[in-house]
Amino acid sequence: MNGQLTIVGLGPGPSEWITPAADATVSTADVVLGYESYLARLTPRRGQVFEASDNREELARAKRALEIASSGKRVVVVSGGDPGVFAMAAAVFEAVDNAPDLANDIDIRVEPGVTAMLAAAARIGAPLGHDFCAISLSDNLKPWATIEKRLRLAAEADFVIALYNPASKARPDQIQEAFRILSTIRAPETIVAFARAVGRADESIEITTLADAAKATCDMRTVVLVGSPSTRAVQGSHGRTWVYTPRFVRVA
Ligand code: SAH
Repeated sequence: MNGQLTIVGLGPGPSEWITPAADATVSTADVVLGYESYLARLTPRRGQVFEASDNREELARAKRALEIASSGKRVVVVSGGDPGVFAMAAAVFEAVDNAPDLANDIDIRVEPGVTAMLAAAARIGAPLGHDFCAISLSDNLKPWATIEKRLRLAAEADFVIALYNPASKARPDQIQEAFRILSTIRAPETIVAFARAVGRADESIEITTLADAAKATCDMRTVVLVGSPSTRAVQGSHGRTWVYTPRFVRVA
């Protein structure tokens, strides 16, 4: 019997943001692999094996998933958000790239999920209403010089910029450096939104400006959206601020 390996996105947190397809795939799996905090969001069905691993061992987990699938099992690897956005799907294909024989006879699929920036954008209004890009600030897998270059060029190209992995205990200050670089190109009044733990009980959204961004709370559970020059704030009911980026660019 051929094995199956599906890399599944669980969305940013709440179960109602897990797609029915992702849910169905997880519930029919023999083995579910993933970082323990993602596995904790699921209830194992009878006979199902849950295998937790460290978040930093992505390639090893991908290889292990392929090995289990090649024995004919139905294997699921879970990711938060979307599995293709700074997550496990690329690690699985990298493992296949490294050892193509491993994937022989395995039916590989990717099941999409709601990525953090989309969930955050929905809370904030429509900040991604026009051209945008996503940059991970983690320099575990790429040099900081590359990140600096991408920040600079994305700012120059007027993209709204979603910053994933903005800060961690090991990297508390790089986000400040990122704001410094962006401030050399973008105006101080540029809107910056911090969306923390979106969809969780302790969710918080803070809308500020580039000039004041350094004062905001930012950690591994935060995605930061830096507005483009045309991103605007409007007042909704009860004093609520909505942020949107118009769908047009005014030609001067
Ligand atoms: N595959 C995931 C991203 C993994 S990188 C996705 O598609 O969302 C991890 C980063 O995602 C975190 O550092 C944070 O920037 C962001 N993130 C994940 N879940 C989040 C949430 N519930 N609220 C805010 N940001 C989140």
